[in-house]
Amino acid sequence: MLTIFGTVALDTTRTPFHTIERTLGGTATFASISASNYTPTSLIGIVGHDFPESYLQLLKDRLDIRGLTISQTEKTFHYDSSFGYDLAKRTTNKTELNVIANYQSTVPEEYIDSEFVYLANNDPVQNMNILKLFSGPKLVICDTMDFWIINKRDDVMKLINKVDGIMLNESEAKLLFKETSTLKCARLLVSNGPSFAVINKGENGSLLFHNNEFYPLPAFPTEIIKDPTGAGDSFGGAFMGYLSQQEKWDSMTLKNAMIYGNIMGSFTIEDYGIQKLVSVKAEDIKKRHQKYKEIFTY
Ligand code: AMP
Repeated sequence: MLTIFGTVALDTTRTPFHTIERTLGGTATFASISASNYTPTSLIGIVGHDFPESYLQLLKDRLDIRGLTISQTEKTFHYDSSFGYDLAKRTTNKTELNVIANYQSTVPEEYIDSEFVYLANNDPVQNMNILKLFSGPKLVICDTMDFWIINKRDDVMKLINKVDGIMLNESEAKLLFKETSTLKCARLLVSNGPSFAVINKGENGSLLFHNNEFYPLPAFPTEIIKDPTGAGDSFGGAFMGYLSQQEKWDSMTLKNAMIYGNIMGSFTIEDYGIQKLVSVKAEDIKKRHQKYKEIFTY
């Protein structure tokens, strides 16, 4: 079983072309919907009393949400961000933690034996606390972002030390180590404990560092880009979902997982919020996978 812990959010996203307000988002949302294309996925998180019933139903239709708590007293985590014309650099306008501020997460009994745990971007202390509650997962991967690197850097470093794989985007990796070289960041991440690091570089693809080797992979080329929110989480969910179906996690397997990560990220950016991601069928993934192999096999 794959269990994903992270935020389930209401997102307000502003681009020069369109604004969407309080739409379904959150790191665990994108990651688990993406992962569910590869393996049955369970979600742990918390939402507030303002969380729309239709969103709850959407999650229920795709995931095991017995781990989702609904607070009757507080509001859902709300993230407000803007993109400029390049639709690449994000500016955070507001991070309203609400329900997640004092969330004491628990793992439902049915999930305790999960062999695969993905700790999506979330409070690193909460991520470490929840990890202790699993009986002994085979593979644990985490993600993080600028908000936590700025506010809880020491805890982020402790968390990285406790996982098998770390995934984060390029600017966050550079922020974490105050480094300008992405390759150096990948090496530094691995020197802190995990056996591999994946650094996402948006339309420039992603980089894997494993067994002392660097493996850069291109992004899946798509001309449509409306909203990059959740691309990293969709990547992470697919990456972990694919790995959970494999026997071993050698460099070749990790690279294949990255291809699926790239593909799911390419779907997510093509529409606002989760709109495109939820419409993706197995056939669509297969087509992009085939295309990816054609383009990048020399
Ligand atoms: P990304 O894949 O990096 O684009 O992640 C986007 C998601 O991260 C959004 O749907 C937000 O709800 C969520 N998010 C934003 N800030 C935070 C934060 N500080 N902690 C956890 N999740 C966040």
